[in-house]
Amino acid sequence: METVKEEITITAQITRFVREDILNLVPYMPSNEPCKIKLDANESPYDVPLEIKERIWKRLMDEHFNYYYDPTCDEVRENLSKYTGAKFDQIFVGSGGDEVIYDIIMAFAGPGRDVIIPFPTFSSYEIFSTIAGSNVIKVPLLKKQEKGKCFWDIPIDDIKKHFTKDKPQLMFLCHPNNPTGDYFDDDKLEDLIRDFNGIVAIDEAYFEFGGKTFADSISKYPNIIVIRTFSKIFSLAGLRVGYAIGHEDAIAQLFKVKMPYNVSLFSQIAAVEMLRQTDWLKKVQQEFIKERERLQNGLEKIDGVTVYPSSANFFLCELKKPRDMVYEELLKKGILTRRFGDDVLKDCLRFCIGTPEQNDLLLASLKEIMSSK
Ligand SMILES: *Cc1c(COP(=O)(O)O)cnc(C)c1O
Repeated sequence: METVKEEITITAQITRFVREDILNLVPYMPSNEPCKIKLDANESPYDVPLEIKERIWKRLMDEHFNYYYDPTCDEVRENLSKYTGAKFDQIFVGSGGDEVIYDIIMAFAGPGRDVIIPFPTFSSYEIFSTIAGSNVIKVPLLKKQEKGKCFWDIPIDDIKKHFTKDKPQLMFLCHPNNPTGDYFDDDKLEDLIRDFNGIVAIDEAYFEFGGKTFADSISKYPNIIVIRTFSKIFSLAGLRVGYAIGHEDAIAQLFKVKMPYNVSLFSQIAAVEMLRQTDWLKKVQQEFIKERERLQNGLEKIDGVTVYPSSANFFLCELKKPRDMVYEELLKKGILTRRFGDDVLKDCLRFCIGTPEQNDLLLASLKEIMSSK
């Protein structure tokens, strides 16, 4: 009895100590359900080939583990400069795209400032903005159907209603949008960027799957910061490397808020090595694009499944059967997909493109589940 009473008191005390805005925050807890085929986190199904891993090990063997490694990731930035065409000073490297997003929020949002987020989108923008003490303005995307095609549109007038002379200070645009899958109309995005008096963070985590970018618009719109990652096409999700491209004055601010040694020696060396694998990258890219087309055609043929167009390595599907049932049935067959708590996505599942064999199994399983009574 005594210990129970004590525990309640401690809980109450801790609760009293916590920041009010953190108290209601739900931790980001990705699923770790055991599965044969992992399609829930938009990772690449292709691991880094052994011979490339060996080159990374070899370089690591010559490095000192006891000394701090390069705090500004200069070798990664030099190689990224060649890869992106941006200047060295226009590039910032973080521990995953997530840390880049965090640092952008720390530098440009923070307490008492407004962040505008078209929604549904990548959850980190809202979570990190809340942690930073910013006021989050979420503007719902519009679900549309034109000429028999379903898509998610960006409501530029609804967004612009929130624009004033100096607020919001930061806007996130996910390009293409996760979890809906596709780009928004270029002209609409440019219209928003032109009218906005703040920093526009354009998340291009899926750049290599779709090819469109705002990275070359930085001289025209110096308030743009593009976010990219090594977690998707480069197959380095486990090593945590992401980067930002922006005007040198904006990038300079990110260096002020970042953790001192934010990217490990291992991660920096691996990122440099992956940037040299242009042939491998091209091969993987072509495989993804081929499989994306095949998967879309297959999904469109399944009764009760609406598939949204994708320029990324994943699809969002709306289901005519109870979503959680479909999710569980897929899991019974060893396939892990992603469901979302948001009301607007309550009938949807998201899954990423796997190997051809994995995609075949997904298509066959989904077909079977959707046609059963
Ligand atoms: C995956 C992803 C990122 C970056 O992920 P990291 O693993 O932290 O690099 C950023 N934005 C979006 C939209 C993503 O899907």
